[in-house]
Amino acid sequence: MMRKKKTRGQLIVLSGPSGVGKSTVISELLSERENLHFSVSFTTRAPRVGEADGVNYNFVSRGEFERMIENQELLEYAQYVGNYYGTSLKVIQDHLAAGTDVLLDIEVQGAAKVRAKCPGAVLIFIIPPSFEELSRRLHGRATDDEDVIAGRLKKAKEEYNEIPNYDYLVVNDKVSSAAAEIIAILTAEDCRTKNR
Ligand code: 5GP
Repeated sequence: MMRKKKTRGQLIVLSGPSGVGKSTVISELLSERENLHFSVSFTTRAPRVGEADGVNYNFVSRGEFERMIENQELLEYAQYVGNYYGTSLKVIQDHLAAGTDVLLDIEVQGAAKVRAKCPGAVLIFIIPPSFEELSRRLHGRATDDEDVIAGRLKKAKEEYNEIPNYDYLVVNDKVSSAAAEIIAILTAEDCRTKNR
């Protein structure tokens, strides 16, 4: 029996607490794996130092975001620590139809919506080696003030409860090892004989 050539891309959801180092792992994945598109989300939060519009996020006003909700332009969206975050439906559909895998970096409510709408999506949760390490990384980032950090840590505790809804759990102790584990997961998914 021959393995079927992939005609549609795979939708991959990556979640994990703020500060776990998802963006660094994602950069590594994008440079290591061909045919992988990172979905640039829309958000109403302000850019952090070093973030560029259209690269890290598409930064929009609340009014613009609410217009997108109204026009059903989003595959999913959620409110997270006082801001909207959402994924453009069209961009994703176009890439998947062209056979490109698409990677979403989204939080747990959005991931649950993707699971319900796209049962074939692969859901991966990334955690830090410990909660103390997460706190240390969030403080080290020094871009957010203390109450924002406290909000993110509280949120992280709640998010851990959602881990059973994910297919895979990866510990980000070292970026290159975490990226290698995710690549192994994607390779295994490519070799599946059955759909979910
Ligand atoms: P941050 O403000 O730290 O960049 O992101 C906060 C949280 O929002 C992270 O957990 C990130 O994964 C999530 N996020 C980013 N983009 C989206 C999106 O399009 N949809 C949803 N539901 N969450 C998102």
